Amino acid sequence: QNEKDSQFIVSNWAKDHYQKLLHETEEGESIGLSYLMQRGLNQTTIKTFELGYSLDQWDDLLKAAQKQGFEAKYLEKTGLTIVREDDPNRRYDRFRGRVMFPIHNVSGRVIGFGARTLKANDKTAKYLNSPESDIYHKSDVLYGLFQARQAIRTEEVCYLVEGYLDVLSLHQGGIKNVVASSGTSLTESQIRLIGRYTDNVTVLYDGDAAGIRASLRGIDMLLEGALNVRVVLFPDGDDPDSYIRKVGDQRFKDYLEKNSQDFISFKTRLVSQEAAHDPVKKAEAIREVLQSIAKVPDPIKRQVFLQQTSTTFGIDEQVLITEYNKLVKKDS
Ligand code: ATP
Ligand code: MN
Ligand code: MN
Ligand code: MN
Repeated sequence: QNEKDSQFIVSNWAKDHYQKLLHETEEGESIGLSYLMQRGLNQTTIKTFELGYSLDQWDDLLKAAQKQGFEAKYLEKTGLTIVREDDPNRRYDRFRGRVMFPIHNVSGRVIGFGARTLKANDKTAKYLNSPESDIYHKSDVLYGLFQARQAIRTEEVCYLVEGYLDVLSLHQGGIKNVVASSGTSLTESQIRLIGRYTDNVTVLYDGDAAGIRASLRGIDMLLEGALNVRVVLFPDGDDPDSYIRKVGDQRFKDYLEKNSQDFISFKTRLVSQEAAHDPVKKAEAIREVLQSIAKVPDPIKRQVFLQQTSTTFGIDEQVLITEYNKLVKKDS
């Protein structure tokens, strides 16, 4: 317990340190803050999410932490520093010259960081994340949930996006019930976390065909978690952040209203398009949809989806139900 407390304390201190660098240093303002402004974020959003900046130096955080009397082992355990390969007694800062996104748990304590490079042709990853620690379990966290949880309850829906900037831009645009999976595929515990606040999820993933295909599995898991799932597609090449910046808050909200579709109908349409008029592919497509329907725990909803699917594909409902029952048997 003491161990965890120390990790919370050092994480919170680092958050404060990165915030100070962003707002109170020449490098932070001219590089970090101006980047965030150029991405359309205002001071309120930057403060609400406690964004910061890490100096482009090897040991700025390390030195400041030593000055505060923090033990090196806690910097190490929270991944804020990395041990040097050539000399295990020496360390350097993990995050350098990056915009810092603190990751909060549901009670608002900082447990880790996401960090975006500002260099156009960075050889390293665009985003770096804190490694797993005693307080940060990546698969149990949804970015932005602390700032979104009240709105998720009152709006009775949770918007699920891919990235940090998507959360920030939507929140700033008045859509506060938004969280991000932060690039990883959804996990069961993230889904259970959403289920604590609402039964309804609307997935707003980046608009690229490959991405949508890849996300189908994760969306099936939402169904399994007894959530009602809708999806909204964005024009190819856009993500929620770029799209809201392009069209403005009101038109973005209208777009969500007009373009949100029930996930099963969406998947039915997607796979039937892919199958075109090929009967073999079509049979395969129907089975794929039936697999998703099988994930829905509520039998009444399942029945409704089976009816819908039979209409969309123009397949006799009894035939479809027979096929469904075969499939479910095979899997159990
Ligand atoms: P930006 O708009 O700043 O370019 P983005 O959020 O649109 O960022 P994507 O490429 O769509 O970036 O990735 C979505 C999310 O996936 C990111 O916000 C981040 O959480 C995660 N991610 C992306 N690239 C990486 C990476 N190289 N390493 C770790 N996580 C990543
Ligand atoms: Mn993407
Ligand atoms: Mn994106
Ligand atoms: Mn983006």
